[in-house]
Amino acid sequence: MIKFLGKFQKVQNFIHSTVIVSSQLRGISTNATIVKSAVFNLQEASKDQVQEFVKSFDTVVTDCDGVLWLSNNAISGSADTINYFRKIGKKIYYVTNNSTLKRSELAATATKLGFIACPEEILSAAYLAGHYFKDIGFTKKVYLLGSDGLGEELESVGVRHIGVGPDHVKPNVKSTKPSELDPEVGAVVVGFDAHVSYPKLLKAASYLASEQCLFVATNMEERFRKPDSIVIPGTGTLVRAVETCSARKAVVVGKPFKYVRKYLASIGLNSARTLMIGDRCSTDIELGVRCGFQTMLVLSGATSPKELETLRNSKTPPLPDVVLPKLGDLLSLVC
Ligand SMILES: [Mg+2]
Repeated sequence: MIKFLGKFQKVQNFIHSTVIVSSQLRGISTNATIVKSAVFNLQEASKDQVQEFVKSFDTVVTDCDGVLWLSNNAISGSADTINYFRKIGKKIYYVTNNSTLKRSELAATATKLGFIACPEEILSAAYLAGHYFKDIGFTKKVYLLGSDGLGEELESVGVRHIGVGPDHVKPNVKSTKPSELDPEVGAVVVGFDAHVSYPKLLKAASYLASEQCLFVATNMEERFRKPDSIVIPGTGTLVRAVETCSARKAVVVGKPFKYVRKYLASIGLNSARTLMIGDRCSTDIELGVRCGFQTMLVLSGATSPKELETLRNSKTPPLPDVVLPKLGDLLSLVC
């Protein structure tokens, strides 16, 4: 919990209802702590309060897209803030549901955009998928709806795979024969696949007709919005298509599901002194809440101020402890 200096009055807390005295102090309780899920705007805190907040965590677990960068452009001030955290001794982990790039490629992207980062600090959904198969000692082959980066993460742990790239529709797609399926396949993995097609869905569902065939997905993010009104269907769209035609449920390794939580627990984080930063409540904040971390939502990516207001008014969990327009705003509040 976050200890603040000074005297504070009772504040609004819609989880444990208390007396509303001042909207400016909403989110800070009588014993001078940040109220969980209070959606407290850190811009309303004093410099002392923000400094106490920063002192309250030793580890930062941050999402990438929408928090640190957008479409390969750094979000203003994010790199300075993350590098400042590192400079004052915080441990940093970059936890992303990106399934298209290898850990080393994501670290290179981060470095290019000004973030100090190394591959060991990157926990991507592609890396977690490889780690999952390594964990269970998988020796068969994967049928992969995904990209080269995910394939390379599987190869890095010795898992063979087929399926990356286009699989074009033939004149009579329903004439596919069992002999066209690879008998060595023991798992179907679904990540982001720009070449998704009817033949791929047919093959995935056919492999999954065997109960012994494992079904793993990187993440369930449905869609991404872009400022130009284009909607990008996310990996969750493809996972649901395969779940529908296979009548199976995937094991999801990315945020906020059990496998990534187990992984984070295995690296020995002190939950109470860890801050999760994200731009999406259903993945980032959910992960933070389930892990017992403090949580910060930034409004520079997936969640608009209007959407947050709707979630807050309807008291729809998970809600963040604190909120900022963008991560870079923290630096000017604390320094
Ligand atoms: Mg994000």
